[in-house]
Amino acid sequence: MKPKFKDFYPVISIDSQTIQIGDEPNNAYEITDPDGILIKIIPLLNGKLDTKQIFNLIEERTFSFLELENIIKTLDEIGLIEDSSIDNLKDLNDWQRVRYNNNLNYFNVFSNTNKTKSSYQKKLLETKVLVLGMGGLGSNLLMQLSGLGIGHIKFLDCDEVELKNLNRQVLYSERYIGQPKTKVGFERLSDFNTTINYEMIDKRISSAEDLENIITKDLDFVFCAADNPPMLINSWVNELCVKNNVPFISGGVGLTCGSFYSVKPTISPCLECYYTFIKDQFGQVLDAYDNSNNDYNAAILPNISLVASMMTTDFLRIHLQIAEPISLGKKVIVNFLTSETTFENPWVNNSQCEVCSIEKSMATNLFPK
Ligand SMILES: [Zn+2]
Repeated sequence: MKPKFKDFYPVISIDSQTIQIGDEPNNAYEITDPDGILIKIIPLLNGKLDTKQIFNLIEERTFSFLELENIIKTLDEIGLIEDSSIDNLKDLNDWQRVRYNNNLNYFNVFSNTNKTKSSYQKKLLETKVLVLGMGGLGSNLLMQLSGLGIGHIKFLDCDEVELKNLNRQVLYSERYIGQPKTKVGFERLSDFNTTINYEMIDKRISSAEDLENIITKDLDFVFCAADNPPMLINSWVNELCVKNNVPFISGGVGLTCGSFYSVKPTISPCLECYYTFIKDQFGQVLDAYDNSNNDYNAAILPNISLVASMMTTDFLRIHLQIAEPISLGKKVIVNFLTSETTFENPWVNNSQCEVCSIEKSMATNLFPK
């Protein structure tokens, strides 16, 4: 191994005893270094020397070779070291290295000597997702997923582009008014990223059965950005995703706040667990939807982009395991008036859940349809 200190982290001397590595409030490490050992070692972690060579180059050593190995191991565990003796971009071709350069720089924050930055991008290139709904949320999600380089993206909608969509639906433009969103989206996205395998489905969803051949086991993730019929579509997505063991995230935008939540089958409670918990209110909520003006849409682009971005970011946390997800089994509320994020109580796993309980899945296996 030829350890290389990630030199995008500044090393700051706080006082004669202490150094700080990194300058971002959520990603900085204050380390006691009374003998100035780290100050001597870090410049030698240049990716050109192995540990033995580094050890031999340090004058007036006050530590053993084993101690040096442990210091480097600790820096690696914190995520401050990469290994220059291996090609950190070996999974990608020249074009991908340039197109996804900034993605790679971001993923490098999470890399270590065992996990290269390109392994994260490679995983995205091999990922297959489905986006349900190509309105404001869906079109923002699709642009973001394409920028990330998700290898295979299926998307579904049944509407045509209208003039009133264009305040927020970034996939379309005025010349496409009257054309199917799926067709226009396919053209726009294929032009934006020529290497992604896009698949369009022009279909109205009116029941769980309508999703049977769409939410399938080969998917890695589902984004639900459809809101019609309210609540029921989320139930159907939940049912099919749990059945096929596919994680999903679902979001929506209201007047002054947006929200989203995610489900990872067998890991988090499912949406039905939550609905069972609130079943006394469920009918009233549906009635309230029926009696309210469902067409009153106050979604503006900054608000809807904010929710879409938070959903995509949480997808990265869940799928790449780069940080703790914030929406698994609970609803995240984004306040548009303050930009504050709050959380509803985490859902409780219901052992009798009609959709996700073990008893239910065993019954399904014993008596297949
Ligand atoms: Zn459940």
